[in-house]
Parts: sequence; structure tokens; C-alpha cells
Amino acid sequence: MKILVINSGSSSIKYSLFDAGEQQALATGLVERIGEDSSRIKHQAVIDGKSRQLTRDLVIEDHRQGLKLVTELLLDDQIGVLASAADITAIGHRVVHGGERYSQPTVIDDDLIEAVRTLAPFAPLHNPPNLQGIEVASELFPDATQVAVFDTAFHQSMPAAAYRYAIPNYLYDDHGIRVYGFHGTSHLYVTKQASQYLGKPLDEINLITAHLGNGASITAVRGGKSVDTSMGFSPLAGLVMGTRSGDLDPAVLFFLGTKLAMSFPEIDRLLNKQSGMIGLTGNNDLRDIEDRQAEGDDQAQLALDVYTYRIKKYIGAYMAALGHVDAIVFTAGVGENSPYVRWHVCQGLEGLGVILDADKNDILAREITELQANDSPIKVLAIPTNEELEIARQTLEVLQENSG
Ligand code: ADP
Repeated sequence: MKILVINSGSSSIKYSLFDAGEQQALATGLVERIGEDSSRIKHQAVIDGKSRQLTRDLVIEDHRQGLKLVTELLLDDQIGVLASAADITAIGHRVVHGGERYSQPTVIDDDLIEAVRTLAPFAPLHNPPNLQGIEVASELFPDATQVAVFDTAFHQSMPAAAYRYAIPNYLYDDHGIRVYGFHGTSHLYVTKQASQYLGKPLDEINLITAHLGNGASITAVRGGKSVDTSMGFSPLAGLVMGTRSGDLDPAVLFFLGTKLAMSFPEIDRLLNKQSGMIGLTGNNDLRDIEDRQAEGDDQAQLALDVYTYRIKKYIGAYMAALGHVDAIVFTAGVGENSPYVRWHVCQGLEGLGVILDADKNDILAREITELQANDSPIKVLAIPTNEELEIARQTLEVLQENSG
């Protein structure tokens, strides 16, 4: 049984094809710059045990054309992995915002489409292109079961004390202003991985999971469920990110508006695209910033100090929220690959039970790796995330529930 995973963005489609139950994707790829002057498709497939790649530059006008092209590549004589499009039993779609309604992956029907459309003002950059992907895939694969897997779903288990803001009640009651949290698929994936690796049942495991990529968030997990997370009403809150500010006193916005006469779209751009590491250093790629820091660059040093200190503060807060922590998990581009960040985040947490081993920490994690010293009461794990695989697994679970 084949499951296609689609992550449809505003100008891109990321895809992976899985054999149900397998960990390794049969094919993966990315269609980029859809609707621009020059688009590109990168496709990678494993054929007869060998990895084959193809990159093609061409004009791709819209998502329909993009996904058609993906289908052609999946069926291609040379680089394809499918005999027929009808071999795809289900399609798992990443959908960013499922609001309070969706805490589980769900088979897509008209109701769900309407709900995702209604939630578009909460995720204006994501939900509309996610819907576009669903529409096109439903047209091109009419016989496949279409399943939505929501970024917000994992965090629906948070208690009200964690998800409510201290603003007048009607803003929650009438307008849904609360913490939703994001990156749920990744936090859930590494939670399951940690549970399996540590041999502790999911409903007994307490973790702090730090997803540190271009976007970054950190989650407190009690008994395998999210009980608090650093992103909030939108993915702007919490940790310092590549181009996003993370936590900020809301009064800064009033100042920007009244004193600097910035408009809301300008403030939006400032905080989402021009802040975070790029705001502090002019770079958003952490590798470049670490290189600059190593050469003695003060700006890079300060930015890394702000970045790692913010994560450390959240770890402290989530230790207090959880009471007992089995492991701290680092994942995504930075979490898996930056010994510097992991080291500086954990420095000073020894008294709280987190003791890193400098040699063990000095790795790029390609598999689950323990980084703590032998006498560390709390484990520290680097776990490669795999959101596509998690979406495929959840899609399969939904299929099995529906057929059983
Ligand atoms: P996305 O959120 O786009 O999926 P990733 O999870 O791929 O992002 O993470 C991208 C980030 O990971 C970039 O800032 C990149 O610099 C960082 N990164 C990747 N490899 C390393 C490394 N070896 N050392 C430090 N940072 C790294």
C-alpha cells in the first residue's frame, strides 16, 4: 500500500511517497518557485536499491501543474517508482492550523475543508496553500483517501492554564485567541521515538522536546502528551528563530506603530522576516553565525547568547511545569547538528539534573544519540525528526481505523 505525503506551501510542494509500514521513502521531492518566472522540480527516488536524482528547471504555473508533474515523475519509466497512479491508496496532507476542532488526523471531507478555510485568518500564509494542495490532489487522485494531519493537533492536550492568555474572555470565546502551538507533528514524532528508545511507555514518558530549525519551538510533554509549548497564537512566539523574533513585550508593537509610524503589515514583516538571528546578525543560517562567532565576531556572539539563553529559560520553565523529566530531546537542523547550541543551552542546568558529555555532544546526529554524561539524572537525546514519515504513519492509522 502506497501513501503519498504532501506539504503544499504558497509557492512550493514537498512530497514523499512511502510504502505503508516502511521507514524509508520510495521517492521524495520538492517543486519550488511555483508561479514565478523559473520554477524547479527536484526529485529523488530509490530504484533497485540505488538513489537516483533529477533536477529540472521549467515554468510551473500553479499547484495543479506542479502536482501533475510530480505524478508524471512518480510514474516515469526511468526514475519512477509507481506502475499506476491508482496504486496510491491514501494521501496525507500537512495542514498547519486545525484550531480547537482537530486533535487527530482526519479523513478530509467537505466539512473539514470548510473548517480549514474558516481557520485561514489564523494561518494566512499556510492554510490557503494547504487547501490548494488538497483540492488538486483530490482531483488528480480521486480514488485515494485524503487525510489531513494538523501541526496544531498534538498541542490540543494542553490545559487551559497553559493555553489561555490573560486578556478579556470574549477574545477567547468569540475570536479564539489562545495558544495553539505548532510543529506538533515533529514534537509527536520525536516523543514516540524517545519512548521507544528509552523503553518507557508513551503514557508514562515526560520530555522536553526542542525543535530547532529555521522555525523553532519547544514543548513540555507529560505522559506522551503536549502540556505546554513555546509557539502561541501564531508561530511567531517563543524561541528566537532564523528570521522571527520569538517572545517580545507587546508594548514594543505600540511603540513601532505610534513612534515609528509603522503599519501592521510593516510590523508583521519586521517581526516575521527581519528579526531573530537575521535581525541580530544579518544572517539567518546558524552555520554562518557559528563560523562568525568562531572568528571572534561580537554580533554573532551576542545573537548566539540570546538564542541559547532563551532555550535554556524555557527548559527551566518546563522542568517546573513537568516536575519530573526523563529526557531533553534536541531535533531539527540546529538541534540535530549544532554541538555549540546544545552545549550552551545545557551549561548551567547541571544543578537541575542535566549534565552533557562534551565528547558525546560533539556529533551530527544521524540516528538517536545519547549526549548526557554517565552521572546525568536526566537524559539528553539528539533525535533526527521525520515529519513526512509521521504524516504517513498517521495517515495509515486513520485508514486502519476506518476500515476496522
Ligand atoms: P526548516 O525549519 O526549514 O525545516 P531545518 O530543520 O532544516 O529547517 O533547520 C535549518 C537550520 O539548521 C539552519 O539554520 C541551519 O543553519 C541549521 N543547521 C544545519 N546544519 C547545521 C550544523 N551542522 N550546525 C549548525 N546549524 C546547522
